[in-house]
Amino acid sequence: MSLQLTKLDSPRVAGYEEVWVAKDPDASYHGILAVHNTQRGPALGGTRLMRYADGDAALTDVLRLARGMTYKCAAANIPLGGGKSVILEPPSGYDRAALLRAHGRAVESLNGRYITSVDIGTGPVDMVTVRETTTHVTGLPNELNDPSPVTARGVVCATQAARYVRSGSRDLHGVRVAVQGCGHVGKALALQLHVLGARLIVSDVSRERVDAVVAECGAEVCRPDEIYVAKADVYAPCATGATLNVQTIPRLHASMVAGAANNQLETSADGDALRARGITYVPDFIANAGGAIYLCRVLAGWTDAETDAAVESIFESSVEVLRRAEREGISAQTAAERVVEARLGRSA
Ligand code: NAD
Repeated sequence: MSLQLTKLDSPRVAGYEEVWVAKDPDASYHGILAVHNTQRGPALGGTRLMRYADGDAALTDVLRLARGMTYKCAAANIPLGGGKSVILEPPSGYDRAALLRAHGRAVESLNGRYITSVDIGTGPVDMVTVRETTTHVTGLPNELNDPSPVTARGVVCATQAARYVRSGSRDLHGVRVAVQGCGHVGKALALQLHVLGARLIVSDVSRERVDAVVAECGAEVCRPDEIYVAKADVYAPCATGATLNVQTIPRLHASMVAGAANNQLETSADGDALRARGITYVPDFIANAGGAIYLCRVLAGWTDAETDAAVESIFESSVEVLRRAEREGISAQTAAERVVEARLGRSA
């Protein structure tokens, strides 16, 4: 019950509104809470619970993720800012509920400037425990259904935008899309694209998940390592991050990339490499903003129509980014960052 909070004040956290290290030795709790930007609204960002090599690795992760949330919320034009928290998972034998309650107290101490939710290592049931010690939490089981169909719809809009800037048409009929990962978003995406007449090539490391998609939309299947060279017009990364890198970009058959995975570029140079190859890339935080929009719907109590309008606007945001990239001769990633920075009122 003895929560200790230390505000970090180092060059490393420059540009962040506040970053706190929180500890409660009685609960084996060691967390870090980062509020990157609240200009557009309270900072939203899930709680990641995982083993880190050390506090420094956890700090690097939380800073990167909090900043990413600011960009994602601004890209989605939703009234939320960016934040994130991590809990360094203790060695085995800890009391999970005590850990989460301690984390809730740390969240509560920020008085609503930061709102937490689920992330890797935490789920809706954990948020019920967090709720015991803070009101600033969303993603509870009664409010959070599966956001994946909404995220997938946003990816469809991003795909239509990529096609539109290349051909003047947003029609996906006959367009070949290689979907990497048939999990929650990948499956929903495949089904939505199928309805729109796209031709699908799918892959997953789980045969069962591939089979489930094939059963519903008759997609072609390829081995996980063949997805980059699959004869597709669009590559849709919906599995893990960093799949666009020095190994994959030179081999990529597709001329467009739009998918749900976070942090698709391994390095920023990969954004330039895509541009050099003439590949139209919709940056991940633009294409997968449907996930953040879904959480905003829960927090702001949006109607279906309001949520749909926000998701559909991913088309316009994507077109704006891709046109800016063309106009300024820069990568789509850089263009997306400039568009978002302009929305945040900084010089772009
Ligand atoms: P998921 O775990 O349900 O699905 C991921 C799938 O990818 C799994 O089926 C897994 O077997 C497969 N996979 C893993 N490695 C693979 C590989 N090398 N090749 C092919 N398949 C592989 O996750 P999800 O919820 O569908 O999310 C997918 C991605 O989108 C993640 O990066 C996630 O962070 C991101 N994202 C998801 C949402 C959402 O609404 N769920 C929102 C925004 C971003």
